[in-house]
Amino acid sequence: MADIAQRAQSMVRKDDKGGFPAQTQEPPGSFQVMDPVPDHGEETYQGHGRLTGMKALITGGDSGIGRAVAIAFAREGADVAINYLEPEESDASDTIDWIERAGRKGVKVPGDIRDRATCEQIVAEAVEQLGGLDILVNNAGFHWDKSEPGIAHMAAEHVERVFRTNLHGTFYVTQAAVENMQSGGAIINTTSVQAYEPSPTLLDYAATKAALTNFTVNLAKELGPKGIRVNAVAPGPIWTPLQPATRPEEKIETFGANTPLGRAGQPAEVAPAYVFLASPSDASYVSGTVLGVTGGESVF
Ligand code: NAD
Ligand code: MG
Repeated sequence: MADIAQRAQSMVRKDDKGGFPAQTQEPPGSFQVMDPVPDHGEETYQGHGRLTGMKALITGGDSGIGRAVAIAFAREGADVAINYLEPEESDASDTIDWIERAGRKGVKVPGDIRDRATCEQIVAEAVEQLGGLDILVNNAGFHWDKSEPGIAHMAAEHVERVFRTNLHGTFYVTQAAVENMQSGGAIINTTSVQAYEPSPTLLDYAATKAALTNFTVNLAKELGPKGIRVNAVAPGPIWTPLQPATRPEEKIETFGANTPLGRAGQPAEVAPAYVFLASPSDASYVSGTVLGVTGGESVF
């Protein structure tokens, strides 16, 4: 089996830029046209029955980190529902194929989480089709890094999209999910290294991720007595469609190169953190915390 880190290293540019070939896409983007196509663990992730018989909903589960988590969860024995946006149908179908190839049930629940009623509908459909809900992964997210630098240039259209997707969406999906979850369940939010080391060009996005850290710690207090654990994963720079879809091409050329490990991570390298936090045995006493997967960047 190919070593995941070696494979990730081999995917970055060999020149002094250290990122990826310059490329661009329109949001939400597709992993299928990325150069190189990211590694979501299709050929490498090996399950060990850590989530046998559990039922999971992953928002933004069609591509990137969410897709890698979907593949890993299925190979760990979970049935998986994925939420995504309608233009992402092709990525979503491919992810469902991988869930089914792992011998598990894959369920599609498309819908835009910026809308509260849609959040409720997504959760209701997932619960109905899976026959319950044990794990919620709040992973859908958006940023926009193509504006001129400076708060003055941040268009309301983008700021609203960032806040509504990352905050409102996470809040309302969680609110609907909690009603359906029992003791032994787990909620995993997706924050970012941006919550700790914010970039001025991601002023709005970084604020949402810092807020999600607070949301994670606080909800863990409320749900702990019910036996539901709440944690977060804080990724560093990870090679996903979000990057070419929302950043200028020159930033793609150096993407991830300035981390202590000297490269961007692949989605396959982030998924095990979600598996750990979801596992009722491995993480039985882990709640209210944030696990960084950052290539060495600080999450303190
Ligand atoms: P991605 O583009 O593969 O995934 C993001 C997904 O969010 C999309 O596939 C889309 O389905 C979903 N989404 C966006 N807006 C939505 C909406 N309104 N309704 C429903 N779904 C919506 O990119 P990714 O990098 O895997 O992103 C996953 C998460 O990881 C995001 O929360 C992102 O902020 C976070 N993150 C990514 C990085 C990175 O470097 N890639 C770093 C830190 C945190
Ligand atoms: Mg996608």
